This record gives sequence, C-alpha cells and structure tokens, in this order.
Amino acid sequence: MEQIQQMLSSKSEALINKENNYGAHNYHPLPVVLEKGEGVFVWDVDGKKYYDFLSAYSAVNQGHCHPEIVGAMVQQAQKLTLTSRAFYNDQLGVYEEYVTNYFGFDKVLPMNTGAEAVETALKLCRKWAYEVKGIAENQAQIIVCENNFHGRTTTIISFSNDETARKSFGPFTDGFIKIEYDNIEALEKALESSKNIAGFLVEPIQGEAGVYVPSEGYLAKAKALCEKHNVLFIADEVQTGIARTGKLLAVHHENVQPDILILGKALSGGVYPVSAVLANNSIMDVIKPGQHGSTFGGNPVAAAVAVAALEVIKNEKLAENAERLGVLLRKGLSDIAAKNPLVTIVRGKGLLNAIVIDCDEESELAWEICLKFRDYGLLAKPTHGNKIRLAPPLVITEEQIQDCLSIIEKALNDFK
Ligand SMILES: *Cc1c(COP(=O)(O)O)cnc(C)c1O
Repeated sequence: MEQIQQMLSSKSEALINKENNYGAHNYHPLPVVLEKGEGVFVWDVDGKKYYDFLSAYSAVNQGHCHPEIVGAMVQQAQKLTLTSRAFYNDQLGVYEEYVTNYFGFDKVLPMNTGAEAVETALKLCRKWAYEVKGIAENQAQIIVCENNFHGRTTTIISFSNDETARKSFGPFTDGFIKIEYDNIEALEKALESSKNIAGFLVEPIQGEAGVYVPSEGYLAKAKALCEKHNVLFIADEVQTGIARTGKLLAVHHENVQPDILILGKALSGGVYPVSAVLANNSIMDVIKPGQHGSTFGGNPVAAAVAVAALEVIKNEKLAENAERLGVLLRKGLSDIAAKNPLVTIVRGKGLLNAIVIDCDEESELAWEICLKFRDYGLLAKPTHGNKIRLAPPLVITEEQIQDCLSIIEKALNDFK
C-alpha cells in the first residue's frame, strides 16, 4: 500500500486555504474536505469515500442525512420555520409531549446548542436551590468534575481545567466546586462540606477527556448521595445520550434517572442544532416567563426534526445495535492491541470508544495515525493528544465494523 502520505488535491487545498484565510482559527481540523454524507459514510470533494468514526462528536448517531430526519426538516422548513416564543406554534407542544414521555420527565426546556443547554441547567439548578431548597441568595455551589467538558461559554469554562480553553478568558463565574471524577468519597466529602450545595453536574462517561468510563456503580452511588443531601443530580448526556453507549441514556446502565437531563447533538441526528433540558415540575416550574429564553429555541423546524430523530433511534433499534457492535468493536481493537504495542488501552461503552496510543499527550503520533486512517478511508480525530475516539454512526453494520477493524489494524501496522 501507499507508504507515502496521500497528497491533498488542489481543490481540497484551495478550500482549506479559504477557511484558513477567512475563518477564525478556533479549530485544528484534520486535512480532509467533505462534501457529502450518507449513513456511516462521508465523501470528500474528490469523491473519496470514508467511514466516519467521529460522527460529529456523536451528533450523527442516526447516520448522515437520514432520509426521515431530513424529510421532516424539509417539510417543516417549507411551511413555517420560526415564530419565536412570542407566539405558539403547532409543532412545539407536540414535540414537548413526545420528548418528555420518551425520557420520562414532566417538562422540557428547549434550546439549540449543548453549551446553551448546560447553561440552562445551571441556571435552573441555582434557581431551584434558592426558591425551593432555601439556600441564601448568591450562595449556591454546584459540584463539577475534573477534566469535564460541558461546552465553551464563559461560565462553563469557569469550571474547566483545560488551560487552552480558559487562558485569557477570565474573569470567571464563581460558585463551582471541582472534585475528582469517578471518586465517590470526594463527592461525599464535597456534599458534606457545605449546606449550600445545589447540584452535581456530571458526564456519565467523560467523552472529550478521552472516553473515561467511570467504575461500575459510580453513577448510582452518586445519585443516591445527591438524594440524601437534597442536591440535584444533573447528567450532561449531550455526547453519551440518545443510544450512543448502548442504552437510550448512559445513566440507564445504572438505572439512574437524573433530576436534570441535558441533551443535544444527536437530538437532531446532526441535521439542525437542537438541545434540551428535561426535569420534573418541582424543578422546572421555578422558571417563569421572561426569566430564560432563546429566539430559536423550540422553533418548529427543531421540534419536527427532533421528533423524527428520536423515532429513528427507536424504530431502527440503534441502542441495541450500539450495544452489540460496541462489544465486537472493542473485542477487535483488543485483538489489535495484543499484537501491536502502540495501543496501550482500549475502552468505551456501546459505540463510544477510544484507543490510547503509547506516547505522551504532546506527541504528534496520534495525529499521524489519524492521517493514516484517513488515507485508508476512515476518519477519526485525536482527543487530548494521545487518545483516538472511535465513535461511528450507530447505523453501522457488523460487516462494516470488521472492515473498519482491518483499516485500523493496517494503519497501525505502518507505525510498528
Ligand atoms: C459537545 C458537548 C457539549 C457542548 O455542546 P455544543 O453543542 O458544542 O455547545 C456539552 N457537553 C458535552 C458532554 C459535550 O460532548
């Protein structure tokens, strides 16, 4: 096979240059320029086909351009796109009833992006703390975890420990206590440290940090501790939710129902920005008119798209598929790791997985490996230096998983 790295076509190069010249440099994309997607595949501007093993950070769980989701979007877009929440529309209530039944909550607050939904959850938690729990104004504390990723707004980066995301963006928002992830004693200690704890915000699996799966029982124990202390358990399932880890929600692996659930990404199957915060009335009803909102949140296109996207998850049994094929993928990756010392760890749940490459976080090796994957027809990206997330759309088949394992093995062998 081609040992020399594939050259970029002049067409790709010209388009990359445009982004470089006219776009802010807030991302460092892998050099591949895509123009089409269908199911598990994407195509570049030269017609080369790739398996998508990022799925837009798990937004495209239902596969690229799913005809039913795109169909719902087109149909609604031709009829009514935006009313704002100044008026009612004929889609929002239908979606709200559907999504709350689907996830088992009384109410939903619709937003657009993941970060907005996290912000919404934090505001909701604080307001509940003051008005229901009875914490003194401005004293509420929310417990968060080290190495979290919850988005990019000023408040959210206030409690990040990713210095790249934080440096020179201060001053930051107060009111957060950071503890070690997957450490139940640390949570217990933090909960006992003050009467002013309002909530515990947690990713059921830390995705951006490199797909850290907590110890079995962690989430259930954390939920029980929160209950004991009258503290809201807030699950950020923006990346782990909606069938990605082999259950509808990752917390379902431990039979946990969060007090506040945050969804985004795959809530639209990647066709439109749709996010949501779900909670029961005792919490959600603290929000009154004028206290929170968004011009686009809950618009008719978003509502129609989200219903279609959630129906696809159920109709195509994507949670079951993710569970079954995740086992196969990790088995195959472990077999590769047994033969190739470059791969030190294989971990994940369902189809949210990562391999850890034997190099330090500053090394370029994982990036080089991803370029090789690309050359062989599979797209993935390193996260935190030496980890490569492997998260294909959940519509992938067993045969395709085997094909991808061959690509991964062949590419890794080039670095042996
Ligand atoms: C992606 C992500 C977010 C932020 O979502 P955006 O739509 O990018 O704002 C928040 N939380 C988690 C766990 C995520 O993976």
